[in-house]
Amino acid sequence: MSKVAGLKFKMKPEKKEAPAANARKGPDIRLPHLKLWIGGKWKEAVHGRTFKTIDPATGEVITRVAEGTEEDIDLAARRARKAFDSGPWPKMKASERARILHRIAALIRENYEELASLETLDTGKPIQNSRRIDVPSSAEAFEYYAGWCDKLTGETLPAHPEFFSYTLREPLGVIGAITPWNFPLSIAAQKIAPALAAGNTVVLKPAEQTPLSALRLAEITEEAGLPAGVLNVVPGFGPVAGAALVRHPEVDAVSFTGEYLTGREIMKNAALTLKKLSFELGGKSANIIFADADMDNAARFACDGIFFNQGEVCCAGSRLFVEEKIKKNFTARLLQCAQKWRPGDPFDPATEMGALVSQEQFDKVLKYIEIGRQEGAKLLLDGRNPKMPQGKAPGTKSKGFFIGPTVFSGVLPQMRLAQEEIFGPVLSQIAFGDFEEVIRNANQTIYGLAAAVWTKDIQKAHRAARALKAGTVWINGYGNFDHAVPFGGYKMSGNTREGGIHTFDFYTQIKSVWVRL
Ligand code: ADP
Repeated sequence: MSKVAGLKFKMKPEKKEAPAANARKGPDIRLPHLKLWIGGKWKEAVHGRTFKTIDPATGEVITRVAEGTEEDIDLAARRARKAFDSGPWPKMKASERARILHRIAALIRENYEELASLETLDTGKPIQNSRRIDVPSSAEAFEYYAGWCDKLTGETLPAHPEFFSYTLREPLGVIGAITPWNFPLSIAAQKIAPALAAGNTVVLKPAEQTPLSALRLAEITEEAGLPAGVLNVVPGFGPVAGAALVRHPEVDAVSFTGEYLTGREIMKNAALTLKKLSFELGGKSANIIFADADMDNAARFACDGIFFNQGEVCCAGSRLFVEEKIKKNFTARLLQCAQKWRPGDPFDPATEMGALVSQEQFDKVLKYIEIGRQEGAKLLLDGRNPKMPQGKAPGTKSKGFFIGPTVFSGVLPQMRLAQEEIFGPVLSQIAFGDFEEVIRNANQTIYGLAAAVWTKDIQKAHRAARALKAGTVWINGYGNFDHAVPFGGYKMSGNTREGGIHTFDFYTQIKSVWVRL
């Protein structure tokens, strides 16, 4: 029996499925169902195809997962439509919806070790991060948005004396959620929880690199009593399953987190049905260190900002602007901190930096290190071929996708190194002379996701916060996140906000009603 918000419910007996033959030795990881979750049933893909998911720490196949294509997406979208049009979910008492979301959160917490292991196995991220960040943040998403279920209200409007005018805040219908591989579970939760809270139904297409935790989440939602068809999970490839979801006429809106180039494709495909779109795209976030900053903290967080999650973070502080007069001193501290970030076996609890998600991502990061050298930036710390702690990461020497902390200095704001999103542990240090110069250069990018400012001067800090074209500005900190606080991009980093009430600008629509008196 579990206790959630004063409510007791019975756990269903665990449905065990034999782990795949190639499951990684070491931690005992139960794999979830590996099929498509559609209309409350586990289904083989229509074409019977499967695809591999790889362990980034060894380069070996973990298992194979059913590969959804257009036909599977069609089925999922139609089931989600049916669940929306004639199922209980949108009409359910709001507090009852909240109770189910709380149950999902509670089950995430109960199964947190298992979810953390799955996430680490599939992404290569350190187990400590999965335990401390990914899994708790996923539970928090359901808890936080459960609180909104019965607080989404309309308004009464003083329009005309002979009419009573009011608004209803209604769900959109079927939401297509397309998620990336860097925080597979928590980004899925960040989209599913508010969508469900508002009474929508969902088809989730997880990233092909990391489908496992989304499948486990589907199992959890069933156990929590989410009605059939309200959440559907269809793993598959972006240009096939993802694109089919975007084009599908029964899907009302698409919430996407990923690269801006993919966002562009999605926007083109969505034009056919004029879908509402929520984009959280890439970034090249500026972390600005003024001469009066607390240098030790600034150096520590500069490393955190770019090496956390192997740099595979959309708001990574990849451009480090350092005021010229402290450059020498600061760089020494920075390097000292950076050297402490050593890649290791993701399942070792002491590891702070794991493997990059895939061969493709590994090659991309190596390519950018080479580009930086060719552009004339100075490679102060080279993360290529990192030394792995002896005996800690079996197989990693030959095949794991490990790159250690990499620091360039002497980077110019126009270099590709400073303009293009690398999505890896590569920091570009850019020197600046004064306030105006750094703000100008910080804003000179197509992105505008986040920025940080380090200074003890409160006026300078707030002036910078206003002047920076970014959806989030941290002052004397980096990377804080909470579901209560809006997160999203300016410019080509995005078009909506996830977090807080603003989330529902996307997941709901307003109906105006005029009543003649
Ligand atoms: P990355 O290149 O870093 O993997 P993407 O933006 O390509 O990042 O991937 C994020 C998500 O978008 C994944 O779930 C992926 O399958 C999906 N995706 C990729 N291409 C498309 C597309 N053309 N239409 C819809 N979804 C896509």
